[in-house]
Amino acid sequence: MLLGIEPRRRLDASGCLVMPGLVIAHTHLYAALARGMAAPPGPTRSFQEILERVWWRLDVALDEESLRASAEEALLDAALSGATVVIDHHESPSFIGGSLDVLVQAARTVGVTVALSYGATDRHGPRGAADGLAECERAIREGLPAMVGLHAGFTVSDETLGAAADLARRKGAWLHVHAAEDRCDVESFKRLDRVGAIGPRTLLAHGVHLSPGERARVEEAGAWIAHNPRSNLQNAVGYADVRTLGSRVALGTDGMDGDLFTEARVAHLCARKAYGPEGGIDAVSLLAKSQCLADAAVGPRPGDWIVLEYDPPTPLTAATLAGHVLFGLGTRHVRDVVVNGEAIVEGRRSTRVDGARVHARAREQAVRIWERMA
Ligand SMILES: [Zn+2]
Repeated sequence: MLLGIEPRRRLDASGCLVMPGLVIAHTHLYAALARGMAAPPGPTRSFQEILERVWWRLDVALDEESLRASAEEALLDAALSGATVVIDHHESPSFIGGSLDVLVQAARTVGVTVALSYGATDRHGPRGAADGLAECERAIREGLPAMVGLHAGFTVSDETLGAAADLARRKGAWLHVHAAEDRCDVESFKRLDRVGAIGPRTLLAHGVHLSPGERARVEEAGAWIAHNPRSNLQNAVGYADVRTLGSRVALGTDGMDGDLFTEARVAHLCARKAYGPEGGIDAVSLLAKSQCLADAAVGPRPGDWIVLEYDPPTPLTAATLAGHVLFGLGTRHVRDVVVNGEAIVEGRRSTRVDGARVHARAREQAVRIWERMA
């Protein structure tokens, strides 16, 4: 098979599996420098303690340089893993104004399509929350690929929540927010719904602790849920029951890496653990739903393809594809990645950036930020 890429260029994909580019429905590009970071002293006993002692210390230490290094690293990893669209949820409380520009520049450098949001929060007072929303508003006004963001109901006041819903309404923008990820955020959905924030342009991350009535409401409103099973396991927040989350469930990696094949596998295993032998997920549908989310959020992308060098040991057909996704395919098979007709990865290497330099800069910035946190 020959794929038409840039003018007069052809990519030879004979003998390979060609799929649409994958979509990461929820992640945090700012989290890439956390790998290997020292754990906080003593045990973390709750989700809130994990946030307070790990993530809220990391995000406040971010500056422009470290954010750029983190975003380039995370986007390069996503590209090499076969993701052509990344929906990011960002926070850097010491560097809010202009932070979404840094993420857009990183995306343009690596070649991945992004949809960004600054997760406004009252953790640093009403001023911090207003600055977060102002950054979203500025980005939308300037035509950047931006959504309105809120961290999560439990860290925002009713005023901030109402202002975010109002901003999204005025701009016709998406709203991207963590919802009911942990028991500490069970009140969040009701409050979001009360201000009219739940609709077809709402992306709720996690939804682990949504009640049956709230799940029905998500479905009725046409809202989306990003399922992040590996992160849910890591934070021990509980099982997000995919069978009852509605018909618009997409797959996110929540800052872990760019590997949607592993995420799909873990989603399946979590469903088996929850339901026994009757449990499981349809991996292909879940990945396809993420495509539908991207179609709605960033527009259709007929020029996004990935080429996987995969010689199947058993017949590969439409009927067996889900089994190959869950038990065979992995990021190691991703050879080429085409975004809007341009090969951004060829032969497992970025055509846009020098991977070694991106990693070296990330290591350098990781040391700086870990020192600041200590
Ligand atoms: Zn998240």
